[in-house]
Amino acid sequence: MKAEIIAVGTELLLGQVVNSNATFLSEELAGLGFEVYYHTVVGDNPERLETVLDLADSRSELVVLCGGLGPTEDDLTKQVVAKHVGKELIRDEAGYQKLQAFFAKREQPMTENNLLQALIIDGGQALANRTGLAVGIFYQAPSVNYLLLPGPPNELKPMVYEQAVPLLKEQFIQEEQLISRVLRFYGIGESRLVTELKELIEEQTNPTVAPYAKPNEVTLRLTVKCKIEAIGQQQLDELEQVIMNRVGEFFYGYGETNSLANVVVDLLKQQQKTITAAESLTAGLFQATLGDVPGVSAVFPGGFVTYSKEMKQALLGIDEELLHTYGTVSKECVEAMAQQARQRAQTDYAVAFSGVAGPEEIEGQEVGTVWIALASKEGTYSIRKVIPRDRAAIRRNAVMDGLNIVRK
Ligand code: ATP
Ligand code: MG
Repeated sequence: MKAEIIAVGTELLLGQVVNSNATFLSEELAGLGFEVYYHTVVGDNPERLETVLDLADSRSELVVLCGGLGPTEDDLTKQVVAKHVGKELIRDEAGYQKLQAFFAKREQPMTENNLLQALIIDGGQALANRTGLAVGIFYQAPSVNYLLLPGPPNELKPMVYEQAVPLLKEQFIQEEQLISRVLRFYGIGESRLVTELKELIEEQTNPTVAPYAKPNEVTLRLTVKCKIEAIGQQQLDELEQVIMNRVGEFFYGYGETNSLANVVVDLLKQQQKTITAAESLTAGLFQATLGDVPGVSAVFPGGFVTYSKEMKQALLGIDEELLHTYGTVSKECVEAMAQQARQRAQTDYAVAFSGVAGPEEIEGQEVGTVWIALASKEGTYSIRKVIPRDRAAIRRNAVMDGLNIVRK
């Protein structure tokens, strides 16, 4: 987690005081596992402090400010931070009582400016000041956390040891934990994937990369052991980038259960597009696979199962002549099926399947020959594949290829 320290005080800029708070705070933060990337010193000037805060917001998740919490006119740190995050200053009751007691004991009236020391940013948490009067503040904005500490080291140090460190530990430092991320690939076999990522899989110890082959797809599980989740996620991002550079073209989605059908349905939903199918060799398997995805009805009105020549004619109006000239396992037939299905179902896309699932050849074409077409308003195109496997695998593979064509 990225952190930076802003010391506020003109006396620091004038060289009258050494910025020892920054050194102390850096050491403490580093000990907690924060990455401290910047130290800034800024004078007691609201505009310049605001500028420094803007910059800090853009590059740090924890911004620690010290100095300027006192009662005098030049102490303006919490006023500027409150304005910066769009909040009011409100009274911290415990801090206020301590102030009252302090002045009562000395039999002095408490002046208005002294009250300032008991104010905190609305929505923030007060850090009691055991050795002084100005309370510290911890305030969490959506993406930045601010810690405001008093300038005098004899106040700042106990506040850090006794309150800030436990608080930061509780907020940001967890026990060592495991975070994983699953990447899903299609169109690349496990053996090729493993070859491409060989040294990552074999030599990496943290994070680790583990491949799993499922029917027709491969997943990679990346796992990192870390204390701070944000740092673990960052390590996973970096590893993922290396993997994507090598095999990114086959990547299709994240997650343990996010199948290709899920990804396709999500994509269609996002683009508000609809799909149908005309299936010969897969005989409804593609549509049944879509049907496994909850909410698919938003993108899939239904489709066609046309196994025989006669049904291709009856349901899709495929030309007798075309079937006779090119055969059912052909580019012409499968493209005509897709176009007709799209027209009849009035969808944005239609996928069509025709092929030879075996055990016998059809029309002189070898077992495993598959044609898949995609029709859309841009036109129709098709691919031919030969899948030299058993009947079930050929049909399943064809369905996955069909989904993959739609995804692309
Ligand atoms: P006070 O209530 O004393 O005014 P404050 O929170 O307003 O405290 P400052 O007024 O900024 O803090 O500083 C008070 C004194 O604390 C300074 O005069 C200096 O001696 C010390 N001090 C402030 N900032 C630092 C620093 N970064 N490193 C070391 N000492 C510091
Ligand atoms: Mg002061």
